[in-house]
Amino acid sequence: MTHRLVGSIAGQQAAAFALIGEHASRLGIPLSGGDEEKRFSIWSSTAVFRRLDGDCAAVELESAERRLLLTLQSNLAEVFEDGGFTIEWDEVNEGALAPGLALMQVVSATRRSPGFTRVRLRGEEAARFATGSLHFRLLLPEDPAAPEWPRISRTGRTVWPERKIHKPVYTVVAQDEDWLDFDIFHHAGSPTCDWVETTPVGQTVGVMGPGGGWCPSGSPLYLFGDETALPAIARMLALAEGEVSAVLSASAEDLGELTADPRVSRTEDLIAALTATVIPEGAYVWFAAGAESARAARSHLTGMGLAKSQFTAAAYWS
Ligand SMILES: Cc1cc2nc3c(=O)[nH]c(=O)nc-3n(C[C@H](O)[C@H](O)[C@H](O)COP(=O)(O)OP(=O)(O)OC[C@H]3O[C@@H](n4cnc5c(N)ncnc54)[C@H](O)[C@@H]3O)c2cc1C
Repeated sequence: MTHRLVGSIAGQQAAAFALIGEHASRLGIPLSGGDEEKRFSIWSSTAVFRRLDGDCAAVELESAERRLLLTLQSNLAEVFEDGGFTIEWDEVNEGALAPGLALMQVVSATRRSPGFTRVRLRGEEAARFATGSLHFRLLLPEDPAAPEWPRISRTGRTVWPERKIHKPVYTVVAQDEDWLDFDIFHHAGSPTCDWVETTPVGQTVGVMGPGGGWCPSGSPLYLFGDETALPAIARMLALAEGEVSAVLSASAEDLGELTADPRVSRTEDLIAALTATVIPEGAYVWFAAGAESARAARSHLTGMGLAKSQFTAAAYWS
């Protein structure tokens, strides 16, 4: 099923088209079409802008997923509003929760190993966090007793409440129709760890997404990561269809049952393990850890001549 939204921009056609060009270039995505029409694709959705008579422009959005359609609507509404234009949409869900945001209840928070607490959330939309992407943003409102959430404004953009919401990224480790689990790595100075230590069972949190990558398809697949990447690597080990190996800098206790997996090894130094790896043709390298390590990994892999399509070097924290 294809979901659609239509909008119009009154006046300043040339300036509106210039804004589309700048926006696509900021996003790093190609803009196609001629003088009369511009189009781009992002988040599995397409946006088309057409010149109309009377200095006006039409906007048409299409997506296979309504959540992604509304995400693009919100993004364009914000960009155009900030640029001094208003897009008049044929449909705006004014007051609804931000696109992709589900509210879920904390069912349990259990120390599963010395370094990690496993949190189970329950909510009707859990199943949609099982596909396409591995990650989500956890939304922790400043006052859990009176939470305020980002909502869609009259113009279609997402408006965040004035009271601060902490929104770190986590990885779904398991899920079913109405629950999902994720693992929080304990480290100093972490608002999320402080929150989970308050035993928040029964609280409502926001879960936004899913987003981020899925398991890369290259074979062999080489995975490298620290504790924060452990949940993602565990998911990828289960999802990978070809040859795969993983090197982690987590402790044996935190690795748990992965220590018995012959594809998994432990290291104290991820960069040394990466540089010692001979990478054959067709392989894919996936690396995620702190920003400094991710920078060193990226520099090593590009230095070896790997193209951007052959590796990921992600900063999971900074
Ligand atoms: C795609 C993706 C998936 C992720 N999945 C997971 C996951 O499943 N489980 C998980 O635990 N983390 C995961 N992370 C990492 C997590 O988002 C960060 O560690 C984040 O900073 C946690 O928020 P916070 O409230 O703890 O800290 P923040 O408020 O972001 O940071 C507070 C302080 O903690 C420091 N800090 C953050 N992380 C660490 C760390 N690992 N070690 C030492 N100091 C740190 C920061 O530098 C800062 O000074 C993921 C990150 C990404 C990008």
